[in-house]
Amino acid sequence: MRLIEKAKGFLFDLDGVFIQSGKPLPGAIDALASLRALNIPFRFLTNTTTQSRKTLQSTLKSIGLNCDEEEIFSAGFSGVQAIKAMGYPTCSYYITDDLKKDYLIFEEDIEKPEVIIVGDYEDWNFKKLNQAFQYVMSGSRILALHMGKYYRVDSGLRIDAGAFVAALEFATNKKAKIVGKPNKEFFNSALNDMGFGPKEVVMFGDDLINDISGAQELDIPGILVKTGKYHEGMLESSSIIPNGFLESIAELPKIISNGEQL
Ligand SMILES: [Mg+2]
Repeated sequence: MRLIEKAKGFLFDLDGVFIQSGKPLPGAIDALASLRALNIPFRFLTNTTTQSRKTLQSTLKSIGLNCDEEEIFSAGFSGVQAIKAMGYPTCSYYITDDLKKDYLIFEEDIEKPEVIIVGDYEDWNFKKLNQAFQYVMSGSRILALHMGKYYRVDSGLRIDAGAFVAALEFATNKKAKIVGKPNKEFFNSALNDMGFGPKEVVMFGDDLINDISGAQELDIPGILVKTGKYHEGMLESSSIIPNGFLESIAELPKIISNGEQL
């Protein structure tokens, strides 16, 4: 595929493209090995916020996906940058304990936080959602690490963090600041880090809104990978048209080794 062959670097979604339920998807390890062999720069752009960047890097390494911490752009990490840019407001968290390690530099306030941070969090109940609602009604801003609707694990689909943010937005009539995909700043920070323009890279993902449309908003071509949450009805019910398709990431080595990089 010409688009992929002529790209100088790649942006990859992680979950549903390289991994699923914490395991590498078929061909993922080989795909990463070919990228290294051909010296093709890449960044993982992931909305996964269950782990700190450091933990995520060692988790990936333990399943055979060797990458540097600096090659991982996670929504959790992006949230840290956003709170710094806001001038270090006081925070209350709806995120995992592991991700919280990245946020220890900020002051936690469970009485009247200036910002509430919502990411992947499995401890929601009525009391907690109502507490978050009350914070926002009392003036807290909502920082959403991402707005994912759902994702796929081996046992099926799972509701994602965006649904809880949407509930808070609906009840309070306030809008969250979103830092993960499809936020333009998120894509831009990866481009800047690589030193490439939007037309010099290609984004691969299994999410039409976060990955494909998010990339296309910045003129980055978006390739839909037909693994993870992909299903046929996905395209029919959307106006988003990917620039290309891969059956799975296992197809990547063949395409790039036939390209101009060799
Ligand atoms: Mg995905």
